[in-house]
Amino acid sequence: MSINAQLAQIMFPNIDKTPADYEVMFPARTLKDGARVTRIAPSPTGYLHLGTFFTSMVNRLTADATDGVFFFRLEDTDKKREVEGGADDILKGINEFGLSIDEGFIAPGVIKGDYGPYQQSLRAEIYHAFVKDLVVQGLAYPCFCSEEQRQAAREQQEQKKDRTGYYGEYALCRNITPEEALERIQNGDSYVVRLRSMGSEQNRIKFDDMIKGTIEMPENDEDIVLLKSDGIPTYHFAHAVDDHLMRTTHVIRGDEWISSVPKHLQLFKTLGFKPPKYAHVSPIMVEDSGNKRKLSKRKDPQAAMHFYAQQGYPADSVLEYLLTIANSDFEDWRRANPTADRRQFKFNLKKMSVSGALFDLDKLNDVSKNVIARMDAEAVEQQVEKWADEYDTAFAALLKKDKAYSIGIFSIDRGNAKPRKDIARWSDVPEYVSYFFEDTYENTLELPENITPADAAAILRAYSKVYDVAQDKQAWFDTIKSICADLGFSPDVKAYKADPTAFKGHVGDVSTVIRVAITGRRNTPDLCSIMQLLGTETASNRLNAAIKTFENRI
Ligand code: GLU
Repeated sequence: MSINAQLAQIMFPNIDKTPADYEVMFPARTLKDGARVTRIAPSPTGYLHLGTFFTSMVNRLTADATDGVFFFRLEDTDKKREVEGGADDILKGINEFGLSIDEGFIAPGVIKGDYGPYQQSLRAEIYHAFVKDLVVQGLAYPCFCSEEQRQAAREQQEQKKDRTGYYGEYALCRNITPEEALERIQNGDSYVVRLRSMGSEQNRIKFDDMIKGTIEMPENDEDIVLLKSDGIPTYHFAHAVDDHLMRTTHVIRGDEWISSVPKHLQLFKTLGFKPPKYAHVSPIMVEDSGNKRKLSKRKDPQAAMHFYAQQGYPADSVLEYLLTIANSDFEDWRRANPTADRRQFKFNLKKMSVSGALFDLDKLNDVSKNVIARMDAEAVEQQVEKWADEYDTAFAALLKKDKAYSIGIFSIDRGNAKPRKDIARWSDVPEYVSYFFEDTYENTLELPENITPADAAAILRAYSKVYDVAQDKQAWFDTIKSICADLGFSPDVKAYKADPTAFKGHVGDVSTVIRVAITGRRNTPDLCSIMQLLGTETASNRLNAAIKTFENRI
């Protein structure tokens, strides 16, 4: 046995499998030509961030465009930073906001697929087998440098204005003989395992990032850590092993990793793996006092997907909005295809913003209003109810009391050529529909300034006499017109405008008084439909109560 093989055996006495065994266990996928295999690989260190969700969407769309596979891998190697329930929160959020996962963790506690384990903490044996093989080949070595030695090296580098890192003359353990290493390990010295880099700072490497274009960087010459002293892999090493064995074709991830690509390419090469294609997604930016900065977990509530759940943004709205920031031609497509399913849009990785798209809540609201306006009443009722079950149980109870009535509310001004676009999120709804329920109806009967209480009372008295719940929209409006003249109002807006001094107001003012009496608002969806839904008893009660109040104000 060669001395390197002996060293490897001492380092990994329990590892019997070789890289070749894993190649057999995880063969190339049998997908159609050109099918892309993508993944999201979060660390469970907190809640689901909008940026992670955005990157998940981009991965999902990239897989979808080629009938590929999108999988989820849990990168849980940093136990100190792990947050309990973090993984479930991420999965739940991805699912809830409408992204399906094909493989790996597909939902909290649900794992599927033949390329697992999909959790790095369960893959120690695999990483060790690959490192063991590198040690045998002399491509990796144990490093015994203490934290103090590393600190001293860093200080020296700073003084000399050298790059920091473990390379060249600073790579102290690189030249330790395998015999010495063997002895120190037998003595129980603590060590990490480093890559023996064959790269040089002088060489430049080029690679094509699918979002950022061609990038040139110096080759990696650092003997980077592969395994920490507790045997846990570094991100760099686990990325290479996992994405190779899981047969990822496209690594689409946050652009904080772009500077690590030379390390990753070198690892793929040293390990004898074909490198994936890379696409680095720029962070989502926000405007802050005139400057652009990254959306921040600490400063911006909208950085958390919980925000969108609490506010009740439908998944479709969030996805549709994120598409507008993912591909700038999406909005043109939407204008040309106003009612099409967003999945028909041809997403293109190469059209993503290089510098980072700006997040705009007003725009999200706008997009969401359009998305909700396109939904049918049943879907709206169902989604509002689901939101309310979690965030407003009193309102959920109101909705459930009479489902047909609730659907009736959402049917008003919906399903026609010009649906109303009043609702941006489900949390808008309780207030928006409060006058439909006696429990939440409040009316301070505030009149427009040009209407006196005496006129308002007279209008409502006249209207009460002719009001008929069975009237359709046209008849309803004709009835309102018919009472105008006697009250001193013009039934015709044009006539009023031609000579405003001849009238107290016009038919619009008359219907506003009725609207205020029935709903407490000056602006509502179609009042005729509202009155029909409320029914004669409620409508009459409200008219009578208003008459009394206005009479008292005279
Ligand atoms: N665990 C890494 C992160 O959360 C994954 C990066 C990647 O997608 O490779 O940043």
